[in-house]
Amino acid sequence: MKKSIYALVVLASIQVSGQTAIFDEQETYTRQDSLRGSITPERAWWDLKYYDLFVSVDPENKFISGRNTITYEVLESARVMQIDLQEPMQITKVTQGKDELEIKHEGNAHFIQLPTQTKGSEGKVTVHFEGNPREAIRAPWDGGYSWKKDENGNHFIATSNQGIGASLWWPCKDHMYDEPDNGMTLSIQAPEKLTAVGNGRLEKIKKNKDGTRTFIWKVVNPINNYGVNVNIGDYVNISSKYEGEKGKLDVDFWVLSYNKDKAKEHFQDAFRTLEALEHWFGPYPFYEDSYKLVEVPYLGMEHQSSVTYGNQYLKGYLGQDLSGTGWGLKWDYIIIHETGHEWFANNITYKDVADMWIHEGFTTYSESLFIEYFYGKEAASSYTQGLRLGIQNREPIIGDYDVNSEGSRDMYPKGNNLLHTVRQVVNDDAKWREILRGLNKKFYHQTVTTSEVESYISEQSGIDLSNIFDQYLRDARVPVFEYAIMDNRLIYRWTNCIESFDMPVRVKIGGEETLLKPNPSFQLMEIADQNLSISDDYYIYVNEVKINKVPE
Ligand SMILES: [Zn+2]
Repeated sequence: MKKSIYALVVLASIQVSGQTAIFDEQETYTRQDSLRGSITPERAWWDLKYYDLFVSVDPENKFISGRNTITYEVLESARVMQIDLQEPMQITKVTQGKDELEIKHEGNAHFIQLPTQTKGSEGKVTVHFEGNPREAIRAPWDGGYSWKKDENGNHFIATSNQGIGASLWWPCKDHMYDEPDNGMTLSIQAPEKLTAVGNGRLEKIKKNKDGTRTFIWKVVNPINNYGVNVNIGDYVNISSKYEGEKGKLDVDFWVLSYNKDKAKEHFQDAFRTLEALEHWFGPYPFYEDSYKLVEVPYLGMEHQSSVTYGNQYLKGYLGQDLSGTGWGLKWDYIIIHETGHEWFANNITYKDVADMWIHEGFTTYSESLFIEYFYGKEAASSYTQGLRLGIQNREPIIGDYDVNSEGSRDMYPKGNNLLHTVRQVVNDDAKWREILRGLNKKFYHQTVTTSEVESYISEQSGIDLSNIFDQYLRDARVPVFEYAIMDNRLIYRWTNCIESFDMPVRVKIGGEETLLKPNPSFQLMEIADQNLSISDDYYIYVNEVKINKVPE
């Protein structure tokens, strides 16, 4: 998630031939950014195995407290472990067995002093914490706890923290490269009469003497940090099954009690999504942990096996069509988009948030694939083209590495258009689908970099696509196909692009399809017909120029 209504407020800025790219001004980063965003030596030596997280939630005081027992494997002998927890939350103590360990604090990073760790061994530390976590003002974009009330005056609480990080409210290794290999236990102590929903499956409910209840949720697959979530409300459960590619998938909807009937009807889009996206991407990646839609007091987020929903039971994006074509109003944006993230975000996860387009580009593309599955290829193509309205082309899609920096918002609509353009180059729908499914198999439950994803697509398609990815991900400009027709000669080239840009493009000359291989130098071709057209499926600009003389 993490998208604001860009399409409604932003007009496409068209850059034409001759302009240079407009790059972001040099950002300045602090040591805290590096501690948060890089694989520091105090992170690198240990591999996450398991989180056992307990959190008690007190909405009257907007206060939480708990402990996280972290199981890790020692990859290299070391003595100092970095754990992240953001102010104003506090670590009260860290223990290993019976010993309390010394902690050196540096802002949001905390360095635990351990006895020498032996390579190959497994260890556990328990981090105790408490405090008033940052409150979300505009969830899910700014991140934090949402302390709301439902229509009956019951507490309605949820967490969201992509980008800012899970360490906003619980102590963890807050870098995306490492996930707990064996999953986690998430125990949530909720106020009387309310239900707490987390990730994975509900294992048991414990009644406490003070009237509160502890809900113990178990996740058996690796899980990304920001995917972990706490939701508390006056929930009811609607339980069913979906017959999918990997067998019976448990599908549970957790909604506010007074929305039960509405949800039963409206959430049918969840089954349509599973059908369409299993077709394109392969089996839902977390059968063992089940699939859930959980109602929350904010728009929604891709929490793993616990997709959160707050789109007000409307079609589109809060009733709006981001593409302006009408196709965006045939389905509930949040159900389709956030569920799409189960494949691209939760199954295939970026190592560094600079590569966030892997989540948002592919997932925005999954919207088009959903449309293609139910309404046909033309409808999907029209939706993809409609999304161009929201592209700004001011900064590259990829952000700065190792400092927890997201790239430009273009990662959504331009990411979709990049993939749609690459599909035109691959020009083989069956192979394209194989590549999308193959990605989810090759990188199953893994964290990845952009270059790994690019290389895979190039290898599988048999086409070197590196210059295309460089152009659309690492440069802000939209390439222009510039051409002139003089008598029976076509003169053409790529301009407004990187030096090595060489994307082949299929054009129609007098109704006949021809494959051109332009680059930034002029090329010449004899033609019999002067009518040239290029499919709008490519995200490029086309510029016919008048010339008096054939260039050298
Ligand atoms: Zn998203």
